[in-house]
Amino acid sequence: MVGETYALPLGDRPLYFAMWNQISAHISQATAVEFVARHQRPVGGGSINRAYAVSNGDAVNAVSYFVKLNRADQLSMFEAEAKGLQQIADTQTIRVPRPLCWGVAESSAYLVMEWLDLGYGTHRSWEEMGRNLAAMHRVTSSHGFGWEHDNTIGSTPQINAWTADWTEFFGTHRLGYQLTLAKQQGGSFPEGDRLLSALPDLLAGHRPQPSLVHGDLWSGNAAVTKLEEPVILDPATYFGDREVDLAMTELFGRFPNDFYRAYQSSFPLAPGYERRKVLYNLYHILNHFNLFGGGYAAQANSMIASLLR
Ligand code: ADP
Repeated sequence: MVGETYALPLGDRPLYFAMWNQISAHISQATAVEFVARHQRPVGGGSINRAYAVSNGDAVNAVSYFVKLNRADQLSMFEAEAKGLQQIADTQTIRVPRPLCWGVAESSAYLVMEWLDLGYGTHRSWEEMGRNLAAMHRVTSSHGFGWEHDNTIGSTPQINAWTADWTEFFGTHRLGYQLTLAKQQGGSFPEGDRLLSALPDLLAGHRPQPSLVHGDLWSGNAAVTKLEEPVILDPATYFGDREVDLAMTELFGRFPNDFYRAYQSSFPLAPGYERRKVLYNLYHILNHFNLFGGGYAAQANSMIASLLR
């Protein structure tokens, strides 16, 4: 497996507290306001990172942050996530938690970001999610498809080398990359290479503009704040075909219909999306095989077969 579970130094109290002291010092420096992480509460059940809500425990002036932890050698993953969050925030199209600081404390890499009080979405907030995502997708790049940094999808490397042609980018840096990795992990994908050769046909006539995409937009990475503001979390940012985001919203439980209606009326999708959706989601299913193994190989093979029919 690519992803190894990160173990917090929970058994070593001095190390654990030294880590939080260092993170607190970095937060204080980044905000120019003294902060001490007196309370640390584990949140979420992320299979890749550990996440904590930390607060100063002040009854009157409570201040909280969201902190992700992983092994020290995973710092570049957090750095890329922070840069993606910052880039999305800078577009002022859709809310993301603002990244604050990142580094290594004791033997843990950390990423500190703004704490968001998450609530439940209303019809209006999901419509706004659709409109805001469409606005983000209108942000384009003159460099083509790719990004300034490589990043990760889950914990698998995601290569973002600038490429002028979408079919070439998706074939080489998305599908081809995951397929090679999946074969190295012992997966059998008898029609995988045939699918790669068929990509120019499957994407014939489709000329997407490079859009700023979230890159990992399953339902766990979209939320609504208590103030009913839609937010997207945990991006694997790059410039790609915007349909990759729409496709993934349908992969593990669809978003509410209000989202799709608002997106379509803001920025209609091109004909042929339903078929490309399967192709784009195959990338994530192969990645799930690479991260978790199991039945994802069979699911990938049946997606490949349906695309080649
Ligand atoms: P991971 O990288 O481990 O998958 P996520 O960024 O997806 O972590 O966060 C895990 C969960 O924590 C999310 O599903 C969400 O419920 C919550 N969460 C994420 N970011 C924040 C934040 N900035 N403030 C509050 N809760 C958050």
